[in-house]
Amino acid sequence: MLPASDILEPVYLDATLTTENTESAEIDWKGFPSVFSVASVVKISGAACVEVVFSRGVYLPELDLWLDSLRRRDMGVISHAHSDHTARHHRAVLTPGTRLLLSDYLPDRAGHVTLEFHEPLETERYTMTLYPAGHCLGSAQALVVSKATGERVLYTGDFKARASCINEPLEPAPCDTLVMEATYGRPEYTFPPEEQVLATACRTLEGWLSKGERPVVLGWRLGKSQEILHHLLSQGFEVAVEESAHRIAQRYQQAGVRFPGAFVPFDAHSPWREGQVLIAPPGAKTRNLLGKTKGLRFMELTGWALNGRRPWGRRGDADLPFSDHADFNELVEYVARVKPKQVYTVNGFPELAAHLRSLGYPAVHLNAKGQPDDAGTQMRMM
Ligand SMILES: [Zn+2]
Repeated sequence: MLPASDILEPVYLDATLTTENTESAEIDWKGFPSVFSVASVVKISGAACVEVVFSRGVYLPELDLWLDSLRRRDMGVISHAHSDHTARHHRAVLTPGTRLLLSDYLPDRAGHVTLEFHEPLETERYTMTLYPAGHCLGSAQALVVSKATGERVLYTGDFKARASCINEPLEPAPCDTLVMEATYGRPEYTFPPEEQVLATACRTLEGWLSKGERPVVLGWRLGKSQEILHHLLSQGFEVAVEESAHRIAQRYQQAGVRFPGAFVPFDAHSPWREGQVLIAPPGAKTRNLLGKTKGLRFMELTGWALNGRRPWGRRGDADLPFSDHADFNELVEYVARVKPKQVYTVNGFPELAAHLRSLGYPAVHLNAKGQPDDAGTQMRMM
């Protein structure tokens, strides 16, 4: 955990913002349905902008639109297939890549709307278009244009700004109102160039293998594992992939992603082959899978691995900073690229909004009640 002295207090512009934190049962705000246990409702006064509600998902009341709701809705956009962005909506709006990844999770109803990138969805109140977010297969930003006012609202979901070997590249979409993730929204989360990190990772793995050790590279099973897989195969490593991450890699292949080499699944019955690197998700399941295997060395590739400080105290033999999210500078640069009139940040640190205000953007962090200030996100990934 970061020391308390390192945590900046969120600063709100009292003169121009009104903020309500409301408990569910009493909520009666513009006829808003009283279904929320907690809601953060923030309106930037004086600006002709939509209201934005953050309550286990993002809600735009004027447009009656849910984005990444964690509760089942009649209709909801799913920006990507990580489990901290999904629910079994009756009518999900999502890309073909996300649909493919969620094919075992979403009920197979006719009502789902599969939208290609750049293909507009027309409704009575808005036009919605999805743009690549560069975060994992199928990950999308949603640009929603109100038919009543013409206002353009961009919801980023999780995004990665750096070019990825397996994802569609992030595509900035100019907007009036930006609702963006703030996962690495503190200045200390500035990542080194990926080539440097990956070169260090490969040298370290080669060193371990040369001593007859058994390297395990830990990465979340959707997105990170497949990026790591692509890099290790391109460097000539022999790679096995834990079953669930392997199944997802096969979905990537179904979607047309080509990996530069062969790879095999690894389960409890797989013998460990000499010279092999295993890619597996962090957590108890992998620990159980490996049991008492001798000579294991663990490497974790994660954006939290800066300066040896980790929010949940897990440490591998080598922790290297590598992420499928934008770092602090890339978050700030993205705001400059899409030129919003107002910004809301969600899912991460409030310091990003404070920094954006210092740059002249009306920006506020929507913090879910009960979410610790130091939460970051990514705690419940699939
Ligand atoms: Zn994600």
